[in-house]
Amino acid sequence: MMNGPNAEQLAFDARHIWHPYSSMINPPAMFPVASASGVRIKLSDGRELIDGMASWWSAVHGYNHPRLNAAAKDQIDRMAHVMFGGLTHTPAIELSRKLVAMTPEPLQRVFIADSGSVAVEVALKMAIQYWHARGRPGKHRMLSIRNGYHGDTFGAMSVCDPVNGMHELFSGVLAQQLFAPRPEVPFDGTLTPADTAELEQLLATHQNELAALILEPVVQGAGGMRFYSPAWLRRARELCDQYDVLLIADEIATGFGRSGELFACNHAGISPDILCVGKALTGGYMTLAATLATAEIAETISSGGAGCFMHGPTFMANPLACAVALESLTLLEEMDWQAQVKRLEAGLKRGLEPARALDSVADVRVLGAIGVIERKAPISLAEVQPMFVERGIWVRPFGKLVYVMPPYIMSDEDLATLTGAMVDVITALD
Ligand SMILES: *Cc1c(COP(=O)(O)O)cnc(C)c1O
Repeated sequence: MMNGPNAEQLAFDARHIWHPYSSMINPPAMFPVASASGVRIKLSDGRELIDGMASWWSAVHGYNHPRLNAAAKDQIDRMAHVMFGGLTHTPAIELSRKLVAMTPEPLQRVFIADSGSVAVEVALKMAIQYWHARGRPGKHRMLSIRNGYHGDTFGAMSVCDPVNGMHELFSGVLAQQLFAPRPEVPFDGTLTPADTAELEQLLATHQNELAALILEPVVQGAGGMRFYSPAWLRRARELCDQYDVLLIADEIATGFGRSGELFACNHAGISPDILCVGKALTGGYMTLAATLATAEIAETISSGGAGCFMHGPTFMANPLACAVALESLTLLEEMDWQAQVKRLEAGLKRGLEPARALDSVADVRVLGAIGVIERKAPISLAEVQPMFVERGIWVRPFGKLVYVMPPYIMSDEDLATLTGAMVDVITALD
């Protein structure tokens, strides 16, 4: 079946439609998609690509999943949406019940948001309202970590890496936050006091103006695809307690098993005060995210001058998205996701290892179902994207990074094809 966009539609796309981080003068080349199923994306010309991206971490069960399709169809016959102000519904309630059960025990209160960036905005606002309600309105700045990525809206941009966070252009109009050095201690490295000295210094110096430390636990995603020691995270948790600063964990990329634990915080055995989830929440079907907080934070906010938490988007807790998310998390619980992620981890290690020998390659690293080849020099996307497609895989490099986070259901055979083609292309560039 070849029913993707036709030539006229593609010309319209190039002329009129923004794609992520795209130009309207030099529109990037687009590959028209007809459909997607399992781990395969079918192009209009009939070619099939093995998907290494899971549509940016989200399609963990693969595309066109019968159970997720059924959940969406069942819900759409009841209602696609009703407003969440003054009304409530089973999909939101049961999804929230599941999120509370899956996440670390202290996280008991759920705000259902419409995208990852909004979940981050909500987390930042919660932290600010919390200190306001406690009579310390001066604590309204954020401490973030270099090489972090937290989204594209204004509050989220302010806590992204100030140089490589894609938002340097806006620095004059963003809230001025504080930045600690990125953790240098690798995932299985040994933490020394020097590793967190500057973090502690910043917390000590600015404790009276800091509302929260926001970070991506253990895996820094779009800001560099770096993995760091759970011991560093544990120490950051201790320091936040010591200096009376909240800890916000952004698990929008890492949540729901991707790093080998259900949440990356679990590697360190810690719980944040506020947690953001998104991306894989609906198994890649719809846009949905959530921000969870402790009961103490929620109750303190509610006892403040405003008497409520000041946020409530139009499409909050969209029933269709909640129903699909509930089914996606149920699927995750029913499958042995831990075994699948372990299997993918072994396959990624095996398959990407040969790249380490290449002169052009600086590092190869794998954690859970995340595989990264870091080159010494940046890659031209326009040059390499067609090379991957020719070899039948979908991979979208970023800067020096060629990385994959496949759907958990990918077979060993498809994974071997995926990693083999990645190494092939990088070798061809060498
Ligand atoms: C993708 C991402 C976001 C932003 O989520 P959107 O749904 O794109 O707004 C925030 N934080 C992290 C860690 C992410 O990976």
